Amino acid sequence: MTKKIFRSIYIVAISVFAASAILFMGALYNYFTGVQQSQLQTQATLAAQGVANEGAAYFDELNTDDRLRITWIDTDGTVLYDTEGNSVEMENHLQREEVKQALLNGTGESIRYSSTLLKRSLYCAKRMDDGTILRLSVAQNTIITLLLSMLQPILIMFVVALVLSLILAYRLSNKIVKPLNNLNLDEPLNNKEYEELSPILHRISSQQRQIKLQHDELKQKQKEFDAVTQGMAEGIILLNSECEILSINPSAQKIFNTNPFCIGKFILSVNNSFELQELLLKSSKGKYCEKIIELDGEKYQLNASPIISGSKVSGTVLLLLNVTEKEKAEQQRREFTANVSHELKTPLHTILGCAELMENNMVSEKDVPEFAGKIHSQAQRMISLIEDIINLSHLDEGLQDMKKERISLLGIATETASSLSAQAKQKEITLNVAGDDVEIEGVASLISQIIYNLTDNAIKYNHKNGSVDIKIKDDGETATITVSDTGIGIPEEHLDRIFERFYCVDKSRSKEIGGTGLGLSIVKHAARLHNAAISTQSTIGQGTSISVTIPKQ
Ligand code: ADP
Repeated sequence: MTKKIFRSIYIVAISVFAASAILFMGALYNYFTGVQQSQLQTQATLAAQGVANEGAAYFDELNTDDRLRITWIDTDGTVLYDTEGNSVEMENHLQREEVKQALLNGTGESIRYSSTLLKRSLYCAKRMDDGTILRLSVAQNTIITLLLSMLQPILIMFVVALVLSLILAYRLSNKIVKPLNNLNLDEPLNNKEYEELSPILHRISSQQRQIKLQHDELKQKQKEFDAVTQGMAEGIILLNSECEILSINPSAQKIFNTNPFCIGKFILSVNNSFELQELLLKSSKGKYCEKIIELDGEKYQLNASPIISGSKVSGTVLLLLNVTEKEKAEQQRREFTANVSHELKTPLHTILGCAELMENNMVSEKDVPEFAGKIHSQAQRMISLIEDIINLSHLDEGLQDMKKERISLLGIATETASSLSAQAKQKEITLNVAGDDVEIEGVASLISQIIYNLTDNAIKYNHKNGSVDIKIKDDGETATITVSDTGIGIPEEHLDRIFERFYCVDKSRSKEIGGTGLGLSIVKHAARLHNAAISTQSTIGQGTSISVTIPKQ
């Protein structure tokens, strides 16, 4: 801009200098021509008087300079005398402009250029009393000659004008541009230098206000979005159309093992799994899709939703859900279903086999009680299984219709022990209940199931003449139920798994004594619904002790 202004001012200044020089010289030239013409008239008048007084003798004593020429012309145009040469050889002068005017008016004037245009002559003619004409002419340089002869001063003047224009243009352009450069665009309306800039500055000011409003609005929305996504357990990532990260919440950072500095980076530089690549490809075509990916041993469901504006995909929203538990539960459910079918099929097959044999009279009369006993025990096993399965599925649904109330642990333990006393007696096992009479907030039926299953196991897996102790202890904030026995014990490598569904240390032994493999699963579930902790100690051949610590509230 400065250059443009500088160039314009420079051209204008040079043009003004040149134009004024030309006009000045023209005016000067015209002025001196006028002066020369009036001098010529005076000289012509004087010369006419001389010729009138002295006649042709006037010319004899005449001593003129080279530039002045005097011609005496007869009434018919014949040249009678000429200072420049032989008058006889000269052509008739009657048709000369100044001569014609003098014949008519007494005086005549004219200016004529020489053939080269470098010189011109001024003429002044006077008609004398005898009718003859006296003409004076003076040679004068034309303006071109004048210019050529003044070339040197003109050039000096031009160079001076050039330098002056340069300085002038430089200073002016800087003076014009400086306030523009110093405009305070943060407060556009405070700039008063140029009135002409007022509409632009008003426009900038209103646009700035608008931008600020939009910026604040965006910031507020970003804050809201951050507040929502910060606390989310699910990972959420926003990508632009180039698959660069625009936003990533802490959960997603944790899942992808990255930090907030990944914003602006290409998503595949954070995780370049095949599944993610496939998702991005589909999303870039505007399709919603989801996939399961495994990261650090955890399973995540990855959903990619394209953001479509107009007909273009302008970005993608990635949602990461931890589905490890869900998948595990699904797997457990599948295993449970398969186990249930298997466990139910075995007694059913035995019942079916015995019934078929009896139906076809293939069982002798004396064996009938044995077969009937088998059918009875297998049917009993199926009932136990079904009861346990119903109990478990009930527990799977959570507390729902079950109500927590104040219950006495010692009371429930005593009740449970008495329901199992026959079983204990049968195996000649001593069953003891002792401890603090502590009350807790809980579901009586579930606590009863916990004590029942633990005591039942303690009796089942005990030696003849062994003992089972049920102890209730008040720990202040919590209460502990401990069931210990003097039984066979559990090998250490099985301790971690005995609470799994259908898990038995010795399958055939468990079946023999009517175990289903679900007893401890029910204990685990019921304990979890009371936020209780379970601990197990066992020594092979010496016995097992299982404690359940329940918060009172
Ligand atoms: P089950 O119905 O077979 O007893 P549980 O879930 O109650 O199933 O127990 C799982 C397994 O843990 C049992 O099969 C048994 O091997 C072992 N177990 C449980 N309690 C005891 C105990 N008190 N003494 C020895 N082993 C036990």
